[in-house]
Amino acid sequence: MSRVAYVNGRYIRHAEAGVSINDRGFLFADGIYEVIEVFGGRLIDEEGHLQRLARSARELRLDLPVAEAALRRILRELVARNRVSDGHVYLQVTRGAAKRDHFFPKAGTPATLVAFAHRGDRAAAEARAQSGITVISLPDIRWKRPDIKSTSLLPNVLAKQQARDAGAYEAWLVDAQGFVTEGSSSNAWIVDDAGALVTHPADSAILSGITRARLFQVAAARGLNIVERPFALAEAFKASEAFISGATTIVLPVVAIDDHKIGSGAPGPVASGLRAAFHDFAPATP
Ligand code: PMP
Repeated sequence: MSRVAYVNGRYIRHAEAGVSINDRGFLFADGIYEVIEVFGGRLIDEEGHLQRLARSARELRLDLPVAEAALRRILRELVARNRVSDGHVYLQVTRGAAKRDHFFPKAGTPATLVAFAHRGDRAAAEARAQSGITVISLPDIRWKRPDIKSTSLLPNVLAKQQARDAGAYEAWLVDAQGFVTEGSSSNAWIVDDAGALVTHPADSAILSGITRARLFQVAAARGLNIVERPFALAEAFKASEAFISGATTIVLPVVAIDDHKIGSGAPGPVASGLRAAFHDFAPATP
């Protein structure tokens, strides 16, 4: 079965799908995106992801080319056509194709909408959660609006590759004051001395994760306190647990940061418990 992608109103074989070389997504990374988990054939936290997409669009003065109901249908069609049971749907909107010029294209230029679905490997994800991941720290050199889910991800890409080159899975980004903002493609959490969950406030310095928001609910139901405050890298080194969250990773325990063992050096009960309970709380829409 060949994979099927969606491009501007058409379902096309994934391998043949493409956009113009004038597309502003290609030329300027002038676009936004979302990644939504598919679990048991259902979309997880779709509402939150679509609301964040709308916010990103507003912040960048980008007009979405289809209404939300149509977008929901497209995502479902991709899940069905690609027979995705567990995996993800990806969607991206750019400011369309126009002669290369920094100014916005003239009014009426249609935005580009691309979406595709891919299958995940549940067994591999579980194995990663069992072993835990390692993290390196790097300076956060991103622009000052990472709260917008824009496709301008060059610093994130460089950080992620640097992590891989160092044998780690993720890079935690550290601001000029020494505080961890978030991961290159995930939110960052620790468990502090008092047993509370600590994560950076959802201000303009981080992407306000949809998984992060859902975990607040999961944590509350488990009787855990949550404190939104910046935490220093030095505090993370001494934390009893650390973990990352995101739609592609849900919760992954962090067992070492920069060669500092976290807690016992194995996944802890808080992170593992949140991971196990996540899908009991996150809305799944068919
Ligand atoms: N921060 C960054 C930089 C990310 O790329 C992601 C994943 N898209 C997240 C946080 C987690 O967000 P979400 O839970 O909505 O996937």
